[in-house]
Amino acid sequence: MRFVLEQTPAESAAYRLAKLDLEHFPEEADSVVKGNMSLGEIYYTNSSFLNVSHPVSPIERVKNEGMFHDMIEAGALTHVWLADARPSAGSIANFVKKAFYQTRNAQIAFSPEFTSCRSCSRVDRGLSETCAYCGSAEVDGITRVTGYFSLVSGWNAGKIAELHDRASWNVSSVKPVPFEAASSNGEGIHIFGISKNVLHPDGCARCEQAKRIIGQELGRSYTFWDIDSPTGLMALSKYDLNGLAERHLPIIRIGDKTFDVLGKAVRYLKNNGHGLVVREPARAEVAQAGE
Ligand SMILES: [Zn+2]
Repeated sequence: MRFVLEQTPAESAAYRLAKLDLEHFPEEADSVVKGNMSLGEIYYTNSSFLNVSHPVSPIERVKNEGMFHDMIEAGALTHVWLADARPSAGSIANFVKKAFYQTRNAQIAFSPEFTSCRSCSRVDRGLSETCAYCGSAEVDGITRVTGYFSLVSGWNAGKIAELHDRASWNVSSVKPVPFEAASSNGEGIHIFGISKNVLHPDGCARCEQAKRIIGQELGRSYTFWDIDSPTGLMALSKYDLNGLAERHLPIIRIGDKTFDVLGKAVRYLKNNGHGLVVREPARAEVAQAGE
């Protein structure tokens, strides 16, 4: 038998199954069902998610839940509940970078919350009982039920209970990950080019030549960055080489020097020693190097 694992959103099953278990197995279910029993707002934590109230930092959540993502072929993600926080673009970028290099997580969703006013039709950040603009109590919450944003008034009691329990964190508190620590060969030789792919079935002749001469003929270790991949692009941006890459490939970066002519890079290398191992980083390799 073959089957594909999916990370079920369980909008209704997490509520329904908790309710049924409490009805038929009250003793056993009591210790595992989450939420507020007296209000009937109950749920199960489903799939590969940690409980929403579990006190871990967002990056730890991304890391721990991500350990299962390789097994879930039909797609999986981790929610980062933001509540009313407004992290800067830089904080978001840093968080994504850290998640990419230091975890196996397949997908992250940043999920803020909003209050929508039925009296004045304005929308404010965060969930509140009254409108921040006109004071009306005729408001509704908007946030991600699981995969999509919807009005909280339409949610079942289980999802309402989960919403009350969601621990939100300030993404900005995550410490920046130094790029050099994340890359597998920070101070060495970097070749930026294009790998063989659907668009370039024969690869880029000059990139292959650079790899062959630097790796095989000179016996130097290098990191090859495919600039069509997200990792390669990120590395390119780190060294501010995007403009140059549009005009010329490959680009060879040795220490703090940039060469767009292979001959000059080779001449420079002949006067400077580096390692001897040739390898191209896989994503997993880069991810492990980040710790
Ligand atoms: Zn209002």
